[in-house]
Order: sequence, then structure tokens, then C-alpha cells
Amino acid sequence: MLGRSLLKFKQNKCKEHPDENYSLICLEVECEERGIICAECQIIKHEDHLVKPLTLALKEISDDLQPMPHLLQTMAKIDVLYAKFYTLLGRLGRNMKAIEEELNKFFRNIHDRIRNYKAACSKILDEGTLNA
Ligand SMILES: [Zn+2]
Ligand SMILES: [Zn+2]
Repeated sequence: MLGRSLLKFKQNKCKEHPDENYSLICLEVECEERGIICAECQIIKHEDHLVKPLTLALKEISDDLQPMPHLLQTMAKIDVLYAKFYTLLGRLGRNMKAIEEELNKFFRNIHDRIRNYKAACSKILDEGTLNA
């Protein structure tokens, strides 16, 4: 059921560019129009954005929806890594504030990207269902 609505969705034309099919997904955190876009949209509005082919994103979504989401596993791995770094910093016992802040920024960024990715995915699924 889900697969069919996604397939139908994939064949949809871009609302702004009726000659183009939706073929990409913008995952840029800062992008106000992130979500599904066409090749034309990418050139005009999403040039330097983090963009993925829609087919690949759809595949990842359906892979993720079936068993245990990869994303959750990735996040768990990141947390373990983070804990290790933290222990290491503690052992060094010096003023490592700068490094600590860098690490915090790095991990926050990854978490944001994952959250953003999930939001974009569920947006696609919502819209896909509406169009089905
Ligand atoms: Zn477009
Ligand atoms: Zn964008």
C-alpha cells in the first residue's frame, strides 16, 4: 500500500515546473523549502543544498520503515562514540573546553541532520498519501 502511493508520488509533476517530475529531495537544514523538488527547482533554489535523488531517499525510507530504522542505530552509535570522546577528555584532565565545544557542535550537527532527514521523510510520506 505504502509502496504504491510512493510510486504514484514519484510520477508527480512539480507544481512550479509542470514539465519536470519530482526527482530530488532537499535535506538542507537551513532550507525553508526543503522536501521534494525537481531538477529545475534544484538549479534555481537549492544549488548548494544537501540534495538526494528521490528514488534513493524513497528506498531508504521504505528500508527504514520495514525493520529497525538505520537512523536509530546510527544515532546509538554516535552516542557511544560521544561517550568515548568524553571519557578521553576527562582522562586528559586539562582545559579542553575548545575541543569539547567543537565535539558538541559536531554531534549536534549530526543529530540535527538526522532529525531533519526524518522530518523530510515523513513530509514526503504525508504528501504521498494525500496524492494517492
Ligand atoms: Zn520544480
Ligand atoms: Zn533546499
